[in-house]
Amino acid sequence: MAYRLNEKIRDLKPYDPISGDFSVRLDANESFLPVPQKILQKIAEAVILASYNRYPDPLAKELCQSLGEYYHVSPDLVTAGNGSDELISIICSAFLMKGDTMLTLSPDFSMYRFYASIAEAKSKQYFKKPDMTIDIDQLIAAANASQAKMILFSNPCNPTSLGLKREEVRRLITSVDALVVLDEAYMDFWEESMLDEVENYDNLMILRTCSKAFGMAGIRLGFAVANRTLTNALKAVKSPYNVNTLTQRTGSVILKEGQWLRSCIEEIKSSRDMLSEKMSVLENNYSQRMHVYPSVTNFLFVKIAQAEEVYRELLKSGVAVRYLGDFLRITTGTKEENEKFMQAFEKAIRL
Ligand SMILES: *Cc1c(COP(=O)(O)O)cnc(C)c1O
Repeated sequence: MAYRLNEKIRDLKPYDPISGDFSVRLDANESFLPVPQKILQKIAEAVILASYNRYPDPLAKELCQSLGEYYHVSPDLVTAGNGSDELISIICSAFLMKGDTMLTLSPDFSMYRFYASIAEAKSKQYFKKPDMTIDIDQLIAAANASQAKMILFSNPCNPTSLGLKREEVRRLITSVDALVVLDEAYMDFWEESMLDEVENYDNLMILRTCSKAFGMAGIRLGFAVANRTLTNALKAVKSPYNVNTLTQRTGSVILKEGQWLRSCIEEIKSSRDMLSEKMSVLENNYSQRMHVYPSVTNFLFVKIAQAEEVYRELLKSGVAVRYLGDFLRITTGTKEENEKFMQAFEKAIRL
């Protein structure tokens, strides 16, 4: 007798973002801001009072209430997930049938195609223009030509750091028969969210996360927002206890701290603007070698000659960024981290 892994999983490797010890980590788009002592205290109190012997609330009602209040959406239209990553996985496996076509964009977040392949869906890609912008008419044409059942993309985009305006997103949603899943993981840093229009469409699902702007990557918490029909379907297919009690409680505390969250967003944006400005100065001197894209996120996307060599040099200086072919993606960090990055980057680019 012999057991063999099936072909869709046979060659997969466990996700390993980066191994090694680096003093400056700008590779995962996390927040650099610590949670203030006062809020940590509230989390501790909330977590101590949890009923550890009981299963969590399957509908995470209090949490969805807090999210609804923060974003001004109806809590009934919110589904909590174990990170938005889990929600992407559930959406791909439940809203696609085997053999259905899912349309993704390229470049975009790499996990989309992975989950589609696990769902045994076909994935088609729309390739962005050389300047990384999206031609919405071409995208609509690609969706309709491939009879896509789902279009899944990030807006603003990870990794390009660019965003599509509401007007164009609306046009896409109303011009296709597909379910449009809009991953707004970085929308806290921009203001073109479709959240307050979610009930206007029967084919729109929006994902948000607490991992980026809110600095909560460690608790694994994300949300889907959609109309009632889609929300009911999503709640019905998710595993009942997908978000644990500690995460529900921590998330509820955090989401009530609107003032603090908004101040974090402002601080991250101003850190990004400073980093972007320094990189633009450098680009003026090395315009043959590098190009920095304008960013509406918490990271910069940089096209650079010999990207891999530059990436390796940065690692040698203790600075980790994300290496993506001809590009580097650099999360904005503290003032000190950004300075260390700039020093290491200037040194690397001279080689
Ligand atoms: C980081 C990221 C996510 C994952 O968010 P989690 O809630 O931490 O799972 C999803 N989509 C995009 C585009 C991201 O960059």
